[in-house]
Amino acid sequence: MADKMKVLFAAFEATPFIKTGGLGDVAGSLPGALQSDACEVRVILPKLRQIPEKYRSAMEPVAITTVPVGWRRQYCGIETLTLGNVQYYFIDNEFYFGRDAAYGYGDDCERVAFFSKAILESLQFLPDFFPDIIHINDWHTALVPICLHEQYRQIPGYDRIKTVVTIHNLKFQGITGEHALGDILALHENKNARDQLHWGYDAINFLQSALYYSDYITTVSPSYAEEICTPAYGEGLNEIMARKHDRLRGILNGIDTEKFSPKKAVYPFDATDLSGKAKCKAELQKELGLPEKADTPLIVLISRLTDQKGLDLLAGAMGDLVQEDLQLAILGTGDKYYEQLFADYSAAFPDKVVLRCAFDEPLSVRMYAGADLFLMPSLFEPCGLSQMISMGYGTLPIVRETGGLKDSVIPYNKYTGEGTGFGFQNPNAQVLRDTVFTACALYQDDKEAFAKLQQNAMAQDFGWGASAKSYMEVYKAILN
Ligand code: ADP
Repeated sequence: MADKMKVLFAAFEATPFIKTGGLGDVAGSLPGALQSDACEVRVILPKLRQIPEKYRSAMEPVAITTVPVGWRRQYCGIETLTLGNVQYYFIDNEFYFGRDAAYGYGDDCERVAFFSKAILESLQFLPDFFPDIIHINDWHTALVPICLHEQYRQIPGYDRIKTVVTIHNLKFQGITGEHALGDILALHENKNARDQLHWGYDAINFLQSALYYSDYITTVSPSYAEEICTPAYGEGLNEIMARKHDRLRGILNGIDTEKFSPKKAVYPFDATDLSGKAKCKAELQKELGLPEKADTPLIVLISRLTDQKGLDLLAGAMGDLVQEDLQLAILGTGDKYYEQLFADYSAAFPDKVVLRCAFDEPLSVRMYAGADLFLMPSLFEPCGLSQMISMGYGTLPIVRETGGLKDSVIPYNKYTGEGTGFGFQNPNAQVLRDTVFTACALYQDDKEAFAKLQQNAMAQDFGWGASAKSYMEVYKAILN
């Protein structure tokens, strides 16, 4: 048998260590799904302060070294931990990673630059693992390909390493002032690197460099792969995307179906018997302080509260929605404007609107299980995991048909009765409102049709099987 392919999967977050969004879910579940006779995957992460103590204390030291950041060298501890079928490495540096939050600091570009270089530096210290491929994710690890090519190639073995970049959200690119070229990257005298990083008048763009320097680009749904080649969704990088089209592939994310399983709900249920779901709903209504009404549709929204998620459409529809017999529960944090807006509706209509301003995974799972409908009217959505998680619980998504939402939700067709949720295309508040009304009417007036959609949704396979195969094809293609 040929040698096992070795892949180092690099991300800034991964469950169960730390998660702030979909990247955490993917980095926490895809590597395990890729593990096989043909492929060995290990994961490398920053040792962020938010990682629970039970994992921190189980980590074992591998090595201590330093990493060049511009004109200085910074401490870099390398630690390891095996969980399930995956071995993880953690890059330790208190100055960069010992913060109260994972992101949101003025020096984030320097923090991720350090991490990218630390990944490359650490390869010299891993006793039994040297990757054929480094699989990077989003802008936080986007400097790996450029640093590999321009600064690390001379080290024996490094010139054979290939790189894949996966884009989970093109909106975030890592753009900073040109001063970082010298001060952080020490690439100011390298014309090639300067050209590939150059952005606008006097800025540099980390993700852009990864598009130029990596061997393959993937993104997290086929529709988003097409959309980002257009000016409307390309965030200024559409021309490069279009040029790289033959090395760009959309692979729909999977979810951890073991973790998000209705069989593990407070009142377990499955597609053949939804009585447990009805109990979950009653419990959830009680927990959220909503009237316990079985016949009133309970809609949930679990999301970062940002404009990307289509919240302006929802804001425009709220006035009409609160006039109807429905309940809307929102779990999320983000822009103060939306937090205040939904808090105001909740204060004015406490029997209909609830806002929980928190990042609370256990509550999110109770909401996925207990709700009837899941609202996700995103303006753009690279993949979206929430709609897949909700379908697994028979909670029908109401989505705007874009990106991964388009690729994972089959919109209800009133003529054929087919569907796994409800969809609309026009980013318009009235269209959103009417789609919500259609879903609520079906829930209240045609229980049989609604139940059929629930069965269809729960029968979908959103595991990693097919997607893991596609990633293997990409790996093989770049190694050949
Ligand atoms: P994105 O990565 O753009 O935030 P995704 O739909 O891909 O969106 O993934 C979001 C993930 O984060 C889902 O697992 C969702 O359940 C979770 N999530 C989002 N907001 C919250 C919250 N406030 N509390 C708990 N989980 C949340």
